[in-house]
Amino acid sequence: MRCPRDFSELMGPESPGLSLFSENGIHSCSSCHGMLLSADAAESSLARENFEKMHEAFEDGGTEVTLDCPCCDTKMRVRTIVFSKLDGGFTEPMELDGCPSCSSFWFDAGELQKLAPPFETADDEPIREAKALAILIQMLLLMPYRIS
Ligand SMILES: [Zn+2]
Ligand SMILES: [Zn+2]
Repeated sequence: MRCPRDFSELMGPESPGLSLFSENGIHSCSSCHGMLLSADAAESSLARENFEKMHEAFEDGGTEVTLDCPCCDTKMRVRTIVFSKLDGGFTEPMELDGCPSCSSFWFDAGELQKLAPPFETADDEPIREAKALAILIQMLLLMPYRIS
């Protein structure tokens, strides 16, 4: 599969040391560090259920964008998502691209980094950054969210 932004080949769960990737069906772009999440590729049933639920917001809502879904080539849609924090507040709004057809989502690295400090050595260590972003996604998936 290729990155919908820059068409680089995506790193998949088969890359060494990326177990969070297979749990959540994550593929990552080693060029822009964006992350593709897919219900079909997720091994954990919790992740699959979360994605199916999130997918409903994209089936008949959102604004079409120029990204083609890496899984099925459908034009993706964008919506704004905020996650609840433990203190009762909400995170910064993030733009989330989702496929209206299959249950796949694209997180731009810049959107994820709004929620986390920038990583050192990100440029020369794409696997390390990918791992850090995967941990962040893992945490986000456990939090209640609101899509607008
Ligand atoms: Zn990319
Ligand atoms: Zn799709």
